[in-house]
Amino acid sequence: MREAIAKLEAVSRQLEPPPDIRREITEQVVRYADRFLDALPEMPVYVPGQPDTAFGDFIGDAPVDLELLLAELAREVDTPGINPASGAHLGYIPGGGVYYAALGDYLADVSNRYSGIYFASPGAVQLEQRLVQWLARLIGYGTGAGGDLTSGGSIANLSAIVAAREAHGIAARDIPDTCVYLTSQVHHCVTKALGIAGLKECIQRVIPMDQSFRMDVAALQKAITDDRKAGLKPWMVVASAGTTDTGSVDPLDLIASVAAEQGLWLHVDGAYGGAFLLCDAGQSVLSGIEKADSVVIDPHKGFFLPYGSGAVIVKNRDTLAAAHGYHADYMQDAVEDDPSPASLSAELTRPFRGLRLWLPLKLAGLKPFRAALDEKLLLAQYFREQLAKLPDFEVGPVPELSVVIYRYKPPNGADTEDFNRRLVDAIQRDGQIFISSTRIEGRYMLRLAVLNFRTHLEHIDRLLALLPKVAGQLAT
Ligand SMILES: *Cc1c(COP(=O)(O)O)cnc(C)c1O
Repeated sequence: MREAIAKLEAVSRQLEPPPDIRREITEQVVRYADRFLDALPEMPVYVPGQPDTAFGDFIGDAPVDLELLLAELAREVDTPGINPASGAHLGYIPGGGVYYAALGDYLADVSNRYSGIYFASPGAVQLEQRLVQWLARLIGYGTGAGGDLTSGGSIANLSAIVAAREAHGIAARDIPDTCVYLTSQVHHCVTKALGIAGLKECIQRVIPMDQSFRMDVAALQKAITDDRKAGLKPWMVVASAGTTDTGSVDPLDLIASVAAEQGLWLHVDGAYGGAFLLCDAGQSVLSGIEKADSVVIDPHKGFFLPYGSGAVIVKNRDTLAAAHGYHADYMQDAVEDDPSPASLSAELTRPFRGLRLWLPLKLAGLKPFRAALDEKLLLAQYFREQLAKLPDFEVGPVPELSVVIYRYKPPNGADTEDFNRRLVDAIQRDGQIFISSTRIEGRYMLRLAVLNFRTHLEHIDRLLALLPKVAGQLAT
């Protein structure tokens, strides 16, 4: 037996590289990352195509040399598709990936602290809770607030909706009479979350919007009153603090008054826009957010982190705890009244997400984050102003945050939708700038979304030069 164990040990020890090998492969990985970052400004932002599905001999018994794997990574993963690290990414909601966050992930992965439970890692849990408290203060919440760092906005919205469901004691039999109020511009993950939370059969009232795609508060008020008269149960308003399509912010302060007066839960989806609370301009656009019962902010959007970082913050921490508390005998040593993420979310074991947020905020300080967000707001305004001066371009409302909608009006009577579809396709394939499109009230529109921390004036100017040039080529 001992002999058999020793034999296995000799092989299983290969999982721990000796120090010299460890250093060597780490250097190889760092060299790859350096080459990537050094080449980034010249790299295309979009490369059509798909990976070679073979991916070599996929997984096998024998070890493979790291250089070969890095070459495969470069070819199959880091080339085809959209390059979210690029400052030329101006489509959808752009990504980012501040380098400091990668170092945070590296450290978190090496020591592998268990951040789900206070008992297991009081330091990791404290650090995350301090970040949550910092976000809560940014929102304007008081001391009873709490929250959780999640994998992203979709899960954060789900968490908030489950907290709202439990706080209002919505049982299965209530669901067909329960009403949710939102606009057609709400992010699709909210509807998805309602379904996952077992609330698919509740009544979703789609409230009309004003010209700038913001919820019409009088219509909201009337819908709630009518539903109550009809014997239904108004439950929750979902407001957007920065819609994905147009960056519009619903009138949070007025909505909050209606929600409070009517006893409804107010949830604010600030996955995209929430980070703008860091700068003064954003604070004023988002005022009233502090009156919400729950708020979602995605650090992998406006705090420029790599993907995998969302946050749900609730005004009253107990609501999140009541919705996610648990008991398990095998956890009896870890029973705690400390704010463990495991008691505030659907997750037990989870990555230590705090380090990737904490390290960049500390290493850079807040100043460059604030400046970058202010810069994004101005770049969006600048783009709209400059585009409006070009002949044959139609622009949408003045951006409240950093999204602009626009389209080309072909002068020769060509089909507008078809033309813009070809325009977006041609610009994407060109690879210098990535833009995307959407449909607003049935109309095909192009979008500019500025959120990558690497996006600067040069990228906007590049797009402003490209748009008329490509449109001109397509028109002839
Ligand atoms: C991106 C986004 C979401 C979804 O967040 P993920 O992090 O992609 O899951 C939700 N709401 C809004 C407004 C968003 O922009």
